[in-house]
Amino acid sequence: MDQPTIRDVRAILTSPGEGSLQKRLIVVKVETSEPGLYGLGCATFTQRHSAVRVVVDEFLRPLLMGRDPQRIEDLWQTLHVNAYWRSGPVMNNALSGVDMALWDLKGKLAGLPVYQLLGGKCREGAAVYRHADGAEPEEVEANVRRFMEQGLRYIRAQMGGYGGRGSDAPRPEGALPGAYFDPERHARSVVRLFDHLRATIGEDVELLHDVHERLVPIEAVRLAKALEPHRLFFLEDVLPPEQIEWFRLIRQQCTTPLAMGELFVNANEWKPLLEGRLIDFIRCHISAIGGLTPARKLATVCEHFGIRTAWHGPGDVSPVGHAANVHLDVSSLNFGVQEWAGFSELEQEMFPGCPEIRGAYAYPNDRPGLGIDVDEKLAAKYPCPEGVLDWTQTRTPDGTPAYP
Ligand code: MG
Repeated sequence: MDQPTIRDVRAILTSPGEGSLQKRLIVVKVETSEPGLYGLGCATFTQRHSAVRVVVDEFLRPLLMGRDPQRIEDLWQTLHVNAYWRSGPVMNNALSGVDMALWDLKGKLAGLPVYQLLGGKCREGAAVYRHADGAEPEEVEANVRRFMEQGLRYIRAQMGGYGGRGSDAPRPEGALPGAYFDPERHARSVVRLFDHLRATIGEDVELLHDVHERLVPIEAVRLAKALEPHRLFFLEDVLPPEQIEWFRLIRQQCTTPLAMGELFVNANEWKPLLEGRLIDFIRCHISAIGGLTPARKLATVCEHFGIRTAWHGPGDVSPVGHAANVHLDVSSLNFGVQEWAGFSELEQEMFPGCPEIRGAYAYPNDRPGLGIDVDEKLAAKYPCPEGVLDWTQTRTPDGTPAYP
């Protein structure tokens, strides 16, 4: 085979749900001069999907045409700095789509799965955590038990979704519409929930909770401290990225393990937390930081600081992105746990080769590259809906806009 060169790059958009604004998936396909040799990468930024497409198709594609797809490190840096201003979720997701596709391609050229390129497995499967929710502690308990019966060891417990069960507190006259929640009531309800779960279920399951940055900083400190006796596996996104200095206060108060980074988009956000040993798990959204290339570097740095990985794995990551997560999970010594949303039958049909979950673990498949494909004809039947997101229009009881 002659040295392949990049022949085409394009974004594939699809929404394999029922017109859900929250399932607008973006996958980048990098095709080469070698017939049938291509790579796929995840560029999913559900909330601004078409902006990512513009960056891929109008800015990255012309830069990449005719280049050697095997120079991943070179191309990542070239694309990263080409706009002069860099980083941010739109540009990083576009970059990730290309980056993961290049890793996929390199695996196909080598005849090896990506986890082999990353150093090989140091475990056979990646332990996952699933989400249990409910309106009352008893309902959450029932859902936790259901996952335990399926063999899961790690379960995230929420009551009423992020920020708790909304707010029925009185609003000022003329208050604007929005997704209202009550931070103080939420914080109190979380303690009540975990009191109940530990009293009824005991210690034989690892429990997690996601605050989703819904608390003011001092409430976050108080919640982490109040949950300490319940030995959480971790407390997730207890503060927004804008308030990371408060992590030091939480550390001084308690030993509740902390997971942070879902919203991070550049190294300046995680460096102080690593240097200060202020978190226990890094949980970036791999495509939002620019793909596998920066994520494997971040994982390695975290290893030296005694911090484990818990990459973001919600429903609005494409199956290609989930595959990349699992390849990195099984080959990172300091892997902690993998968030797992699961795939619908339609997604599995649209993306042949989805990583599989059996019992408590997710497994990459052993095909070369990321081991996953996309049925473009099927994807085209599910165009992304246009519309305005409601759930991120969050407000606290007096009507103030808040972090979602
Ligand atoms: Mg989260």
